[in-house]
Amino acid sequence: MKRVSVRVGNIIIGNTRPVVIQTMCNTPTGNIDASFNQCLELARKGSQIIRLTTQGIKEVNALREIKLRLHNAGITTPLVADVHFSSDVAIAAAEVADKVRINPGNFSKDPAIALEEYKKLISICKKRDVAIRIGINHGSLGEKIIEKYGDSPLGMKEAALEWIKMSQENDFDQIIISLKASNTRIMTDAYRLLYESFKKNGVSYPLHLGVTEAGNGESGRIKSVVGLATLLGEGIGDTIRVSLTEDPANELPVAAFIAQYFTEPKVVFHGQNISTNQDGSRIIHAKYSIKTWEEFLLRASCDLGPMLLDNLIDDISLSVSIGGKEAAENDLLRFRDELLQAARRKFTKPEYIACPGCGRTLFNLEEVFEEVKKRTSHLTGYNIAVMGCIVNGPGEMADADYGYVGAGRDKVTIYRGKTAVFMNVPQTDAIDKLLEIIEEDRRNKLFRPRN
Ligand code: SF4
Repeated sequence: MKRVSVRVGNIIIGNTRPVVIQTMCNTPTGNIDASFNQCLELARKGSQIIRLTTQGIKEVNALREIKLRLHNAGITTPLVADVHFSSDVAIAAAEVADKVRINPGNFSKDPAIALEEYKKLISICKKRDVAIRIGINHGSLGEKIIEKYGDSPLGMKEAALEWIKMSQENDFDQIIISLKASNTRIMTDAYRLLYESFKKNGVSYPLHLGVTEAGNGESGRIKSVVGLATLLGEGIGDTIRVSLTEDPANELPVAAFIAQYFTEPKVVFHGQNISTNQDGSRIIHAKYSIKTWEEFLLRASCDLGPMLLDNLIDDISLSVSIGGKEAAENDLLRFRDELLQAARRKFTKPEYIACPGCGRTLFNLEEVFEEVKKRTSHLTGYNIAVMGCIVNGPGEMADADYGYVGAGRDKVTIYRGKTAVFMNVPQTDAIDKLLEIIEEDRRNKLFRPRN
């Protein structure tokens, strides 16, 4: 199979090169000082590529200034413009950025117009040696694809293949593909299907891996690791972003750990031992002696998460020593529950879909997400989304049952599935409104939580 490598500024991605780690600013790009400072921090903390929200021409101009200031400060980390709908903005951004992230299918509802706009973008990218990431997300597929394949891993793969074909027909191979989802099974299935197509067609393009809207804290980390480690363990994936609803700098040590884990000569599994229960379920007994809880959490998720996701085992039993002391039983039980849920094997709490926030977020997402979690923690079997903006939030919350979506400064829209129920409610009332529709649906037996 021919493996295409793609240049993004001074970084080359793909064709068996080491996995590149990246993150995204959560500052408004128009706030040049804040974005410059955050880029500086992220570059110094190891981000090899940095993405910034670029929703309009104002942000394109800000990006130009940020890039210049970074160069003057001796920072040459490639910058990516994150564009969602406007081909004009994507084309303008290609004059500035090292890579443009777009879903060309969103340029227009008319496929012929979308294709014409994509061709214009390609011609600028060719001239300036700029890469394109074709970013297909579960939950935001085009109508035609959904009609034919459903909002499914197959649909995601087909959407990507369509734009890969357009790129090939226009003699442009500097493309990177992402097929992100918040559901680890959907995400891994989609990438695997696409990789199979690459093998069949004899040419592969670099893949950018990510579990979107993974949330925060231990659960966000574990969920990200399960998705990324499953694919990287099979040699699928060239660049990764761990998206957490936290300071983006917190994503980098997690991404670095995962990338490093797969450079080790072979994954050494500590004390591997699988037993079978009377009911036929298989339990792995794993033993760790490790320096810190954080390292245990990431390593054990890399080791065991893929086996759970792929149904090779059904449960885990752990014996863990942290810095020479036995780990607390409660901590191990919490980890087990988180890992089983991240691998979608057993749900013991609500499933949260929370975007990492970016320059489009107009409220303190971290605080709001914590508050939503606190007040909905009893809703096991529910999928609840907390999204930073109304532009992409509703599309990207995919299969959430209910959504809390930022609609403007101090304004929130509450969703039931894909339907906006309360629009532009003041932020102070928004969680009450969310609970109000959940309770109403419960009373009217309109919603049955998953087991
Ligand atoms: S959904 Fe969140 S991460 Fe995505 S564009 Fe909106 S605010 Fe940014």
